[in-house]
Amino acid sequence: MGLSNLVLVEPKSFPSDEASARAAGADDLLTSAIVVSSLQEAVADCELVFGTSARERHIPWPILDPREMSGVVQQAKKADDEKTIAVVFGREDRGLTNEELHLCQHHVCIPSVQEFSSLNIAAAVQVIAYELRVAFLKMEDLKSLDAPKWGTSWDAPLATQQELELMFEHFESTMTKTEFLDPDNPRQLMTRLRRLLMRALPDKIEVNILRGMLTSISKKIDK
Ligand code: SAH
Repeated sequence: MGLSNLVLVEPKSFPSDEASARAAGADDLLTSAIVVSSLQEAVADCELVFGTSARERHIPWPILDPREMSGVVQQAKKADDEKTIAVVFGREDRGLTNEELHLCQHHVCIPSVQEFSSLNIAAAVQVIAYELRVAFLKMEDLKSLDAPKWGTSWDAPLATQQELELMFEHFESTMTKTEFLDPDNPRQLMTRLRRLLMRALPDKIEVNILRGMLTSISKKIDK
């Protein structure tokens, strides 16, 4: 899911052959994991810390679901791409203590049915990591918005502004010829058509197809 910094707090046994085997190829994450002796130490340099927990605690704390959490991460990263953010997971058997949770600005709870509110840690990590991945991909999309996605990873280059203008002129003359457009009372036809086609970000081939259709209509009329 693209996460790369793992910090382990007082692991029972580490390094461990079992952990490496279970990592299934992602054991570089384990190799580069940092081992520390307290959670405080683990999150010391983090600017934003999320603590995960299945249960609501005695003292109310801001609780987010994973999607809301990734929204907060997105905002934080937008403001400062270098921001260090941690998500804290607890022990498989007893989770995080209240003291540990109080080191975290936000608490994150994966909504589930009450009888089975507590997930295995691996499942919980995956849900959270997935939401972070989706948020990350959305941010990458936003970054490339200036260069429209359709035009950058497409099989034909986008039509140029000039090609679009020629296409609109072609539409206008042909629709006038068919009398669909009344030049004395054009209404908003060309504006709406322009908006529609601009919204579609047509590529060169698509523009040629549309213009080819207009030409064929024109030819029929001239016959
Ligand atoms: N009895 C413990 C269960 C620990 S489950 C408790 O209630 O806290 C192990 C870890 O998985 C938890 O510490 C937490 O990090 C994560 N986890 C499990 N279920 C979760 C849920 N519904 N929402 C968020 N995190 C969860």
